[in-house]
Formats: sequence, structure tokens, C-alpha cells
Amino acid sequence: MRELIDKLEETKTLSRNEFKKLLFCGNDYLFKRARSVADAVYGKNIFMRGLIEFTNHCKNDCLYCGIRAGNKKAARYRLSKDEILDCCKKGYALGFRTFVLQGGEDLYYTDDVLTDIISDIRTAYKDCAITLSIGERSAESYAKLRKAGADRYLLRHETANETHYRSLHPKNMSPANRKQCLYELKKSGYQVGCGFMVGSPGQTPDHIVDDLLFIKELQPHMAGIGPFIPHSDTPLGGSWAGGLRLTLNLLSILRLMQPNLLIPATTALGTIDPQGREHGILAGANVVMPNLSPISVRDKYLLYDNKICTGDEAAECVNCMRTRIKSIGYELTVSRGDCIF
Ligand code: SAH
Repeated sequence: MRELIDKLEETKTLSRNEFKKLLFCGNDYLFKRARSVADAVYGKNIFMRGLIEFTNHCKNDCLYCGIRAGNKKAARYRLSKDEILDCCKKGYALGFRTFVLQGGEDLYYTDDVLTDIISDIRTAYKDCAITLSIGERSAESYAKLRKAGADRYLLRHETANETHYRSLHPKNMSPANRKQCLYELKKSGYQVGCGFMVGSPGQTPDHIVDDLLFIKELQPHMAGIGPFIPHSDTPLGGSWAGGLRLTLNLLSILRLMQPNLLIPATTALGTIDPQGREHGILAGANVVMPNLSPISVRDKYLLYDNKICTGDEAAECVNCMRTRIKSIGYELTVSRGDCIF
């Protein structure tokens, strides 16, 4: 196994069969090499992003997601511009220099509505990065929002394999369109993040290698991966959650494939294991995304069951995160945390 890990570090890629072997690697040498590569690029810094979950309305019906249109039990909400700006204000005082506006695909937020919100954040916080994570839109829309002041865009590709993608999404969604959106976003000058769920129903080792090869081709600035976790009010509510070890191995593999990649230790990882995010950082992740959404809506943005931190104030989340990160020898940094090229 060591030779394979060294080979990946050196050549940044492997054959399909070699990748598959590494997925099930039980040797902590993988984490050690990945962490040392992350240290060489980003030092002991862990970047934080303030997540503002501003709407849970969604027109899509992805089979795994708790806020899918078909979930009639979800209590829906939208934040106003003032509420969003208030989240940014609190976040700035806590040291956040990146705000992530995430939501379902909510038709209420037209380009005009979003442009108004983004340009106000841009004017008020010139030293901050604005990240959007609001799904598939037209190339024109991406360009407009970029012009209004958005810097980055997170759009997980979910799974690079066509058949697997179709099994997790309704007929009107296509993997080709999702990938096309990522290329459009890059073209519009965004720092782009793709990513996928680990252990989603029907996922095979070959599908995961497809994901790795897609990431290799796209060369994103960020890649978000976290375990799939079932939500009881969705068609996939009876499925198993993705595993910790496989997720950590993948964080390490991504770090070795692309040393400068921004890789979050996700909330989903912290949900399947109380120390999941610490393990994630020690396996090569270098970003955390504490929640800045108002307490009143926290327990409504439920993509999966048992999500952590739904009752904590933003300040509590940041302090908790700072302590956790310190305890493993790292530092939560006040910085935009751009990708180093
Ligand atoms: N509407 C936006 C944001 C989606 S939510 C978009 O389309 O990009 C952010 C991510 O949460 C999704 O991309 C998906 O990978 C993840 N997610 C959704 N349901 C999940 C589940 N049940 N378990 C784990 N992750 C999930």
C-alpha cells in the first residue's frame, strides 16, 4: 500500500485499479502523507466559511435530499436581504471573511433579487469572499451574479457516473447539464467547487473512480465530499449512511491528487462521527463551514437526519470549532482563504 500512496503523491494520479485499491486502504500512512502535503501548501491554517442557509424552498426533487420539492413535511422558509446582511454582520465580528449563501433552487431568487443582495454584501464587506451554492442556472445568470460581486460557486456534481446520477435524480435533471454548469462557472471567472456524496445508494467503487477522474479533468479550486446520510422523509430514507473510513480515504486521495485543493471537513462528516471533522482535517481537509444561519431557521434546513449544531448560536459554533481545531494542533484563521495557485 505504501508504494501506491507514494506513487499517487509523486504522479498525482493512478490507474483505475490502483485507485480502487486505495479506496479500501486501512493504513494510516495515507492520512499522514495527505496531511503533510496540506501542511506544505497551507501550513497549520484551517480556513472557515460562514454558511448562510437562506432558503429551503426547492423546485428539484433529488431522491436523497430532505428539502426536495416532494417532501411535504418540510417547513419552508426564506431569509430577507436584511436577515442575510445581519448574518454577515455577526459573522464578520466572529472573524469570518467568506460568506456562503446556500439554498435550494428557489425560483423566488431571480437574478435581480440575488444581484441586489450580493451587491449589498459586496459593498459592506470589501475584504470578504462571497460564495454561492444555489444549484444549476444559466450561463448568463452565473455571469450576472459574478458581476454583482460573487467570487466563488459550490456546485457538487453529486456523482460523475451517468447511470448512477440518473438513479438519484428525477428525469428532468441531467448529469451533462450539471457538469456543463461547472465549466460555465469556471469560464465566468468563479473559483469553483465540485464534489460528491460518499456511500450514496447504488454507488460502486467504479463510480467513485469516475468522480476522481472527473475532478482530475475539471481541476476545481474546491471539492466538497461528505458521507450520504439518509433523511427519513425521502425515498432513500431506509438506506445506509456512507462510511467514515471511506470518506477519510477519499479526502486524503484528493489532497494527494491536487495539493492546493480547498477541502472542507463537512458537517455531514461531523454528523456520522462526533470527531469526524477532526479526523477529516487530519486526513488532509483544510476548511470548515460553521453555520451562520439564524437560530430560528436552523432546524429547518435539514438535508439529512440528525444534523449537528442545529441549536447553537454562531458564536458557540465558532468557539467550539476553534477548540476542536486547536486540540489537534491546527489554527482557525481569520482570512478569505483563497486557493493558492
Ligand atoms: N441546491 C444547491 C445546494 C444543495 S445542498 C445545489 O444544488 O447545489 C448541498 C449539498 O448537500 C448537495 O450538493 C448534496 O451533495 C448534499 N446533500 C443533500 N442531501 C444529502 C444527504 N441526504 N446526505 C448527505 N449530503 C446531502
